[in-house]
Amino acid sequence: MAAADQAKRIYHFGGGTADGDETMKALLGGKGANLGAMARMGLPVPPGFTLATPLCLAYGVSKALPHGLMDDVRKAIGKVEALTGKTFGKGPDPLLVSVRSGAAVSMPGMMDTVLNLGMNPEVSAALGALAGERFAKDSERRFIQMFGNVVDGIEGKNFEAALDAVKHDKGVIEDTALDAAALDDVIARYREVYQAETGRSFPDDPWEQLQRSIEAVFASWGNIRAVTYRRINQIPDDLGTAVNVQAMVYGNLGDDCGTGVGFTRNPSNGAKGFYGEFLPNAQGEDVVAGIRTPIPVKAAQAAAVDLAGLSLEERHPQIHGELMAVATKLEDFYGDVQDLEFTFERDTLYLLQTRTAKRTGHAWLMTQTDLVAEGKITPNQAIARIPATSLAQVLAPSLDTSAASSKPLAQGLNAGPGAATGRIAFTADDAEARAALDIPIILVREDTTPEDIHGMHAAQGILTARGGLTSHAAVVARGMGKPCIVGCSALRIDEANETLTIEDSDLVLGPGDTITIDGTTGAVLLGEQAITTSEVLQVLVDRTLPESESPLAAAFNKVMKWSDDARKLEVRTNADTPNDALVARALGAEGIGLCRSEHMFFETDRILAMRRVILSSKKRHREAALAGIEPFQKEDFKGLFRVMRGKPVTIRTLDPPLHEFLPHSEEDIKALARQGRWSVEQVRSRIAALRESNPMLGHRGCRLGILYPEITRMQARAIASAALEVAAEGVDVQAEIMIPLVGHVRELALQRAEVEAELDELFEKAGRRVNIRIGTMIEIPRAALTAGEIATEAQFFSFGTNDLTQMTLGVSRDDAGTFLPDYVGMGIYTMDPFVSLDQSGVGRLMRIAVREGRKERPALKVGICGEHGGDPSSVGFCHTLGLNYVSCSPYRVPIARLAAAQAALAD
Ligand code: PEP
Ligand code: MG
Repeated sequence: MAAADQAKRIYHFGGGTADGDETMKALLGGKGANLGAMARMGLPVPPGFTLATPLCLAYGVSKALPHGLMDDVRKAIGKVEALTGKTFGKGPDPLLVSVRSGAAVSMPGMMDTVLNLGMNPEVSAALGALAGERFAKDSERRFIQMFGNVVDGIEGKNFEAALDAVKHDKGVIEDTALDAAALDDVIARYREVYQAETGRSFPDDPWEQLQRSIEAVFASWGNIRAVTYRRINQIPDDLGTAVNVQAMVYGNLGDDCGTGVGFTRNPSNGAKGFYGEFLPNAQGEDVVAGIRTPIPVKAAQAAAVDLAGLSLEERHPQIHGELMAVATKLEDFYGDVQDLEFTFERDTLYLLQTRTAKRTGHAWLMTQTDLVAEGKITPNQAIARIPATSLAQVLAPSLDTSAASSKPLAQGLNAGPGAATGRIAFTADDAEARAALDIPIILVREDTTPEDIHGMHAAQGILTARGGLTSHAAVVARGMGKPCIVGCSALRIDEANETLTIEDSDLVLGPGDTITIDGTTGAVLLGEQAITTSEVLQVLVDRTLPESESPLAAAFNKVMKWSDDARKLEVRTNADTPNDALVARALGAEGIGLCRSEHMFFETDRILAMRRVILSSKKRHREAALAGIEPFQKEDFKGLFRVMRGKPVTIRTLDPPLHEFLPHSEEDIKALARQGRWSVEQVRSRIAALRESNPMLGHRGCRLGILYPEITRMQARAIASAALEVAAEGVDVQAEIMIPLVGHVRELALQRAEVEAELDELFEKAGRRVNIRIGTMIEIPRAALTAGEIATEAQFFSFGTNDLTQMTLGVSRDDAGTFLPDYVGMGIYTMDPFVSLDQSGVGRLMRIAVREGRKERPALKVGICGEHGGDPSSVGFCHTLGLNYVSCSPYRVPIARLAAAQAALAD
């Protein structure tokens, strides 16, 4: 391992050696660290150097490069000159360099890059004498455009207009048809654009170009695109980017050169074998930009898309052979699927980048289980890497091909699996605006750029007319887990008029029309289509497909088994009905951590009885009405105990404010009055009396059971008699009664006394007992702060982090949408605290509660049942707190199992 010296600012790579290596991502960024590793492995990496990330953070503060840095850069360029035999800024063989960003966490396309730097008329002439005049001029105009855009912020359209004007004058359509003289004209116009936009002439001094480009890349860490990307992907702001300065190699020297990107295995479905694309006669950025549709590397893939004979394998067998050898070497070295960038200059192959490939959930499961089977990694290494949330994609619905009612409108490349239906949006802004109104959206674009990121985030799915599987749209959608189709060339998109037409069809679609995309197959369909359950759910939950017919389900089960072997946290589910419980059990839940018993009250026949309870002023009447609900509750609980046999079932007593059960419509009020023989006025005045300004802080939770103990008693009776009856069937029943919203130990003591009195009475009568534990939710800050006292009355704690977050932050969980997204956007909270635990605030209260609770009662079981129980980073936090279990919604159970294993492995 190379030594990381914090004072060192510049790290070399190339010529078979490097200062850095793959372990130094924090300092050198992913790209710089891996370039170092590749150079050390002896792979053909153009030489260069990396400016370390602390320089970026310092630049963010001072807005200037540190003193003396450019002197060091000059020395570093000297080394590159020595290794390449070229000279920076002059002929006869001039050195051009690329200046690229590269953070520790890859952020594709979010920051800036400048290519062909070191160019001026004199250099261009020298390059022309060596490599052809047309090539030199093309490189020169690309450089002015990129530098102008990245460093001086000149909008690309200014340069494009100049280029179009020359093409028009010369009567040509393609850029490649412009000869050297025409390119001279383009260069002259570009220089005018630069002058007009900046008020300065274009800088021809290569050192000035280099310094300003380095500064621009450091500054791009703070651009809006990059900041948005970090928010969405939960990447901290204080990592900074490194800058990589590297000798240029040229994929655009002619048709026998090219540049491409590839994956050592298919990033969409995980299939074994190299998967890549290249563009002949092009520079690196052309491929990722998705402007020209690239050609497959492998012959078989080319044949499948009618490009037989054109693949890299067929046209350049020697380069192809070397590339395959490099791919294998890199995958073996890293022990994981690599995403690499390469360029070939005639017979010479160069590697420009390697990184761990972003993949779909499907591909994560397949590649990791394959790598284990191939003996390249251990099961624990495999599960440590799979992003836990990627499992959500595997469980997501897909298009029901048997029921698809129309034949596809068009076919594109299947870039991100899963099916999505929505209205068409032609711009990211429109997608975002309408999605905010809960309208499902499919974002339809010619191709996407980093400026579209907010629209992609808001959309259900993404469809583009251009681009390959490595285009921006494909890479970003895959990272977001969204269904995505790219390269759907039959689409004709008129963004200005908001119309979408399809080649060979009269159909004209607009923003009001609904389409469905199947990102698994690449099919685009008209209208809303039937969408079917995921293959994994068909095997595990529906049991309509045997595991032997689904390699995906087999891989899923393996990963779950490895996770279960590694984790310490138990994973339970939040389930209110036997059906939810069945799904959760099939997905591995080890019990119910929260049954919100009030959800059983809302069905028509039950709600009437509940309304009578609330309206009755006499206890006798309330008890009579409750007796009407009790049999229903008992049946529901019996269902849960049967499904969860042998596993704990935690049932929470009534929680929501009473008035939530009351009628609102005139009709319902009248019906209730008739039924209970009240006057309409009596009903109305009771409703008015129960109204609260802050119901979330009002008469809810245990406060109901304390003022109306007969409600708690009825529920305790229903739970205990259900437990007795199911136990009599031979089922092992593990019932737990949980009291909500306790803030003071006396509240819990009162409720516990009611429950115990009821249980004793019932068990006495039955002549049998079952063991029922009594515990409480910790969801009021006071409860957390006095957990030692509360533990004297509680056999278990379960953190209700929804309420605990609300009350700790003083942010209403129901109205958080009003300002919280802005707060997250401004970085006040880095994550929505209702999604991912506020570890330093709410988490601190939890820590106190665990410590003091267990001090009083060492065997105290502690879990969590707020929404955070299914959020991977919150699960990790719960592991470090030493909780016994997390409980989450059924479909998040696999995510929690994997996240719990990852937390245990990280210890
Ligand atoms: C909680 O507050 O976290 C909780 C689980 O209870 P509810 O969401 O029902 O208030
Ligand atoms: Mg709560």
